Amino acid sequence: MTFYQQPISELFREFKSQKTGLTTYEAEKRIVEFGANALQEKKKKPIWLVFLAQFKDFMILILAAAAVVSGIVGDLTDTIIILVIIVLNAVLGFVQEYRAEKAMDSLKKLTETQTKVIRDGQTISLPSKALVPGDMILLEAGNMVPADARLIETFSFKIDESSLTGESVPIDKSSGPISAENLSPGDQLNIAFKGTLVTNGRATGLVIGTGMKTEIGKIAGLLQENPPITPLQQRMARFGKVISYLILGICALLFVAGWARGEDIYQVLLLSISLAVAAIPEALPALITIALSLGAGRLAKKQALIRKLPAVESLGSVSYICTDKTGTLTQNKMTVVASHPIDTPGLFTDFSNLQVAMGLCHDVHVDKKGRPEGEATELALVEDFLETFSLEAYERLSGEIPRIGEIPFDSERKRMSTLHQFGDQVLVLCKGASEAISEILKDQNLAKEVEESSENLAAKGQRILAFAGKVIPSLPNEAEWAGLEAELEYFGKVAMIDPPRETVKTSIHECIAAGIKPVMITGDHPATARAIAEEVGIWKEGDLVLTGAELGNLNEEEFEKIVEQVSVYARVAPEQKLRIVQTLQRKGHFAAMTGDGVNDAPSLKAATIGVAMGIAGTDVSKEAAHLILLDDNFSTIVKAVKEGRRIYDNIRKFIKYIMTCNGAEIWVIGLAPFLGLPNPLLPIHILWINLVTDGLPALALAGEKPEKDLMHRPPRPPKQSLFAEGVGYHIVWVGMLMAGVTIFTQHWAIRQDWHWQTMVFSVLSFSQLAHVMAVRSDRTFLFKQGFLSNKPLLISVGLTMVLQLGVIYLPFMNDIFRTRPLELVELLFCGAMALIVFHAVEMEKWIRTLIKK
Ligand code: ATP
Repeated sequence: MTFYQQPISELFREFKSQKTGLTTYEAEKRIVEFGANALQEKKKKPIWLVFLAQFKDFMILILAAAAVVSGIVGDLTDTIIILVIIVLNAVLGFVQEYRAEKAMDSLKKLTETQTKVIRDGQTISLPSKALVPGDMILLEAGNMVPADARLIETFSFKIDESSLTGESVPIDKSSGPISAENLSPGDQLNIAFKGTLVTNGRATGLVIGTGMKTEIGKIAGLLQENPPITPLQQRMARFGKVISYLILGICALLFVAGWARGEDIYQVLLLSISLAVAAIPEALPALITIALSLGAGRLAKKQALIRKLPAVESLGSVSYICTDKTGTLTQNKMTVVASHPIDTPGLFTDFSNLQVAMGLCHDVHVDKKGRPEGEATELALVEDFLETFSLEAYERLSGEIPRIGEIPFDSERKRMSTLHQFGDQVLVLCKGASEAISEILKDQNLAKEVEESSENLAAKGQRILAFAGKVIPSLPNEAEWAGLEAELEYFGKVAMIDPPRETVKTSIHECIAAGIKPVMITGDHPATARAIAEEVGIWKEGDLVLTGAELGNLNEEEFEKIVEQVSVYARVAPEQKLRIVQTLQRKGHFAAMTGDGVNDAPSLKAATIGVAMGIAGTDVSKEAAHLILLDDNFSTIVKAVKEGRRIYDNIRKFIKYIMTCNGAEIWVIGLAPFLGLPNPLLPIHILWINLVTDGLPALALAGEKPEKDLMHRPPRPPKQSLFAEGVGYHIVWVGMLMAGVTIFTQHWAIRQDWHWQTMVFSVLSFSQLAHVMAVRSDRTFLFKQGFLSNKPLLISVGLTMVLQLGVIYLPFMNDIFRTRPLELVELLFCGAMALIVFHAVEMEKWIRTLIKK
């Protein structure tokens, strides 16, 4: 018999478990026996293989071959040095790849889910990977099922099994045994499978399989997916290919030209290949991954957890942030500020009807010490009750009029009801949004008044809950309960406030300055929503407030016309969020959208950046999101956008830096012979410059602080090329300038009978360092920006400088690099040339600000 056929008692026996769960002692034994409840990932490549893979690069192989050949026919020292440089290059590539992978791993760890488990008879929350067969787990709407479990009890329990079966309609699940044989997982209706999503109700289950011993674990290859490639990485890969061919073409031409001039064929060959190796920007893809994943790591420290790496990149283009109100913009700490009971005689002597309803019609749990626990709106009511009366009064009331049923709250009906034993009769208590209550009042004239007066209070930003009830002779059967919400007596209303979070106003301000439009989407009353939106700066005169009902009446064309004027959506059903996101996207916007419930998942998935709540959010919403806010705070989204923009900026900076340097190398080697000068550099010089510049300084640029105007410029157009905004020009003209000063140095030094080759080598090397300092900001002068503000960069520039001086002045380095110690005047000349490059790039910034003005 298989698990779905067995009666529950038999399963308990088989798994040596019971309704009160395993003991911690037993669970610890089992985790040793069965292992963690995790799907095995693809075996990682061993470290040495990752290292070896660095040599797979075609150009590196050619270079090594050429070095060996030229060593055999000519100079062996050159060959050895080139091979050493190749190894150093591989070490660098390896370190970069390793760091990128480590950063990705630590991000993965942060997204682990938790599960409610019964251990030692207590319900506790544990990381899902700690589950063992025999554990009793609790599942509720919004959870991701953490392991395969046979259901023991279910309450309107539905699961979306699309991740397993492809069937996206949620399936009703139940707990009874099924006798049929050989059922496929999709038909095993009493089993919840790992990785599927609970969309409705709740259930308890007995874990029957964990880790690889689950249905999903059996489907091989599921977790073997490669990390997603971001659009930027894709573009870079395409660009890398094109540029490699171009460089190879140029190097081939240089080789032919050199050969034709009658130079030593092996030397020209080695030079051309070295140049190709140096100029092809092979480090860029790894650097981009590092920048993105280090950025994601920094975001996690700021309470924003990136689930999908491409999100880091799209953050910089976000032009709309659609946000929930409660808990994200506000503190989700409701306080009752006024209650307005109706002054007709009540059902009780000690309490008004309104007070009874406040005390009884909720799902708050009050413990023995009088501490209430539950959802914010309801907590406020109970806290107010406890403050007005006492714990004793509360306990007496709930004891004397015990609850015998409920019609739960849902955000579409916007009300809930509880049913209570009231002597030998039944008391129905109902609370909800004022319009949701007034439509079920007996006295419809009064209903109008209730709605009007609520509207006035809501306009002050208060949340209004109305209360009503009635006494009926007896409890009908459950199927008829929904009909009880009719013909009710009005009991009164309560006004509460939920103050905005402290940092929200500043963040909204920052958003607007950054060209990002914040929009509030809420289930609350339009007047309340508007008042709060106005208070925090989202709504201003002239903006539209659209209700869910109004939105439903608009056709797509009409909605598209006004969508950009709407800053508040009120009384919106979660399903409508999808429409809002899609319409904004059709208008060309990059929209971030927050959500926490099961119904929010489609809109989170569709949004450019789906943002889930780390505290209040369901697993389902987290699963669908690109970004999780660990503190549920709107301001964190703005911080994330800022970080996203900064990362993108920095990526552009090191692309600018590396490509300019590579360009300069090509110009120098390519142009010098045409100007009647000897070959300016030896292959090892080029390889050395490449090694040094591609390495530390470029990496340090990824950590550059945000530009001052980062949040004062409009979002980056999503399709904008990496080379837009002057990056392409910069690469060409600064590359030519560097080559210019280098060739000038060569020409001048030959005339002065100086150590021209060492000088050429040094000028090119120093000007890269001068360039990296200037390129730190696109707009601000280095000394205004703060010379010392990027310490890692400063250290790497210092280190490179010392190495270069070593190459010039240490005798053994002189032998290796064929350099000569420079006289002071020669060295100063090189320094001055490098400074020209520095000042030219600083001038570029000045000219750009002039043009902008
Ligand atoms: P947001 O979408 O910003 O989180 P919200 O909390 O108001 O706003 P919902 O939870 O969908 O959104 O609530 C919609 C309306 O239902 C509320 O404005 C309120 O009037 C009413 N309501 C909320 N909670 C309860 C409750 N526990 N019982 C009865 N009515 C409630």
